[in-house]
Amino acid sequence: MTADIGFLRDLVTAPGPSGFEQPVQEVVRRRLAPVAAPETDVLGNVVATVNPGAAPLVVVAAHADQIGLQVTWVDEQGFVFFDKLGGVDPLLLPGRAVVVQSRQGAVDGVVGKRPTHMIPEAERGKAAELCDQWIDIGAPDRAAALARIACGDPIVFSPHFVELAGGIVAGRALDDRCGLYVVVRALELYAGAPGAAALRALSTVQEETRYMGAQVQARRQQPDCMIVVDADFATDQPEVEPRRAGGTLVLGGGPALGRGGASNPALLALFEEVAATEGIAVQTKAYPGDTQTDNEVLQTAGAGTAAINLGLPVRYMHSPHEVAHLDDLESAAHLVAAVARRVGEVFEPGFFTPRV
Ligand SMILES: [Zn+2]
Repeated sequence: MTADIGFLRDLVTAPGPSGFEQPVQEVVRRRLAPVAAPETDVLGNVVATVNPGAAPLVVVAAHADQIGLQVTWVDEQGFVFFDKLGGVDPLLLPGRAVVVQSRQGAVDGVVGKRPTHMIPEAERGKAAELCDQWIDIGAPDRAAALARIACGDPIVFSPHFVELAGGIVAGRALDDRCGLYVVVRALELYAGAPGAAALRALSTVQEETRYMGAQVQARRQQPDCMIVVDADFATDQPEVEPRRAGGTLVLGGGPALGRGGASNPALLALFEEVAATEGIAVQTKAYPGDTQTDNEVLQTAGAGTAAINLGLPVRYMHSPHEVAHLDDLESAAHLVAAVARRVGEVFEPGFFTPRV
């Protein structure tokens, strides 16, 4: 299984902070067009189906959006103030290169900070509140800044994507461009050798803020089962303990199958059976509570849908340089395609209803 690193780079390089996902959704549409007919709903969710109209219907979903910032105000000197889109750690920002995605195009900037020499001892190591941080775009005053950017413009970390070594990559927004990679590749693999089931890709918007894309699609979809692919916390790094993270999750160990209320037992058993038959390594992750993904919302699709969480191990979540393993992505795509074929063989009404 050779991963398509160029496609992952395209997904990572395209900006798509929550509420402003169109550039990355365009990458998804372009790539899906040869195997399915992508459609975009009013919120910006992208949907495309191989074997449309066939039954059962299997949906594989990931979120297109990434965390970011948004311009709120520009002061007299031309410094740009901002708020956050999604879970941004204020500690990470000072000294960071960012890009304002203005209507005119990309505007480079840096998050300013006081020189370390001038920070009193008592304040060192503490993050300033977001409203006390600023971005410098090199504008001499407010008018010059507002000629290039505007209130409401989204902001992202500067594009970054490198292969560190042996299939381990680092980049921004691997949460959840890793998942998007799996969704699109799974559709391609399934289109190359389809089974009886319809397999539908769903690329959602606004997961990092309010699960808005999933909420809209949960009302429109009536799938027989739903596979939600998202980045999950790798534990093979300092200071992340498996006992606090729902179990051990290592890079290169394969995708993690979630267990808990958000995963249907029959669908989980099917994933385990197919992974064993196909020789695909998987890991197990406990979700005693909220998965903090689109899963809970998408489970409400139709009259209630059998769902499962497929977690991709990612280090340094929500930082500008997240780290993942290409093999986990490609093997997850093969697993999803194989599961879709198997669901087509074994599905009957009531298949996913837990046995009493
Ligand atoms: Zn995510």
